[in-house]
Amino acid sequence: MNLRLPISLFQVLLLVTLASCSSWQRTEQYGGWSLYVKSGETVSNQAFFDAVQPAFEAVERELGPFKKTIRVHAWNGGVAMDDGTKGRITSGDEGTVTEVSGIGPARVRAFHARGDGGFFSLSGVFVGTADEGTAVHELVHAHLAEDGERLPLWFEEGFAMVMGDGAMFENRWVVDGLACWPWRELRDLEMDEAKFENLLSLSSGKVHSVRDNVLVHFVGWAIVFDLYREVGRLDWREMLNRHNAAADPLREARIRYERTLRIETIESWLTRLQDPDPGTRLATVRGTWKLHSHAVQGTLLSMLRDETHPEVRASFAVNALATAGQVRLGRRRTGWMWRAVFPVLKQTVLASQEETSALRTLYRAYRYGNPEYNTQAALEQLDRFWED
Ligand SMILES: [Zn+2]
Repeated sequence: MNLRLPISLFQVLLLVTLASCSSWQRTEQYGGWSLYVKSGETVSNQAFFDAVQPAFEAVERELGPFKKTIRVHAWNGGVAMDDGTKGRITSGDEGTVTEVSGIGPARVRAFHARGDGGFFSLSGVFVGTADEGTAVHELVHAHLAEDGERLPLWFEEGFAMVMGDGAMFENRWVVDGLACWPWRELRDLEMDEAKFENLLSLSSGKVHSVRDNVLVHFVGWAIVFDLYREVGRLDWREMLNRHNAAADPLREARIRYERTLRIETIESWLTRLQDPDPGTRLATVRGTWKLHSHAVQGTLLSMLRDETHPEVRASFAVNALATAGQVRLGRRRTGWMWRAVFPVLKQTVLASQEETSALRTLYRAYRYGNPEYNTQAALEQLDRFWED
């Protein structure tokens, strides 16, 4: 069977300074935030509202209410990076993919700018795509900036990454926190003490490379994820206090970093796939294909047998399928996978008609190998279940 899953959208979200001045028009005012659109651009206000509003609510739920109206700047495109601290807004995909050595392509879609008080300085959230997780990440930066907090860059990015990892369930952003792409990349990376220490010393005011900026996100995520597992709540103050209270914070951060990268950490986190709350199960399974793990796929396929919630079933199936695009499966495993996945693609009825029909498209494409079916478009329609 022909199985090609062209999935490689990697997102990195930055805290950067805007290098060019564009003009922005305020197009909508919502409760607590307003939407600005880049002059000359047409965006769907509705799509951005649908993505930003649940993100705004999630950040307020965890960090408390915003004090001022937040400016959210929207356009369709991304950011071309000059270095790890500066970027330019671009339209479409032009210049947004940066090849990061040893990691692969990273696409920068959004950022937060504090504004330095300079003549052209703008502050607020900038999102080149209408995506909830992206908006959560940037709104975490906005919230911390509003509080006047100057946190270590690794900690701030790490916390924003934990908050921005999750899934939409019943119109609500459910945080998971296990960011599968960084986990896999960091496992393959050589990280000596000097490099680790250097990454933890970086700040947004100190020029550094795009690669280092990506690594600050990843390493910060790994440390904060461990703190989150220990604290059990998304309480960044408590997490940072624990880090600072260690006799040797750097050494302790290293221990946390290594603990996150153990396979046992993944195994224990994935027990959340049995959580009684379907939203938690969905947020946990979403993105697990990025682990590129045969074992994790086996877990998903076994758990699919007992899973009854339609959205969670769809998510199990799509992540198991996407894993198959990344790892070599033997004949027996492939057979098992299709026996588990086909009924989901063929029969599951979701609340959204578009999502249901995307499942059917995948079913016909893979069941009958018909190249006329657009699997890429169907997968994009189902991004709520697999992308993170
Ligand atoms: Zn960030």
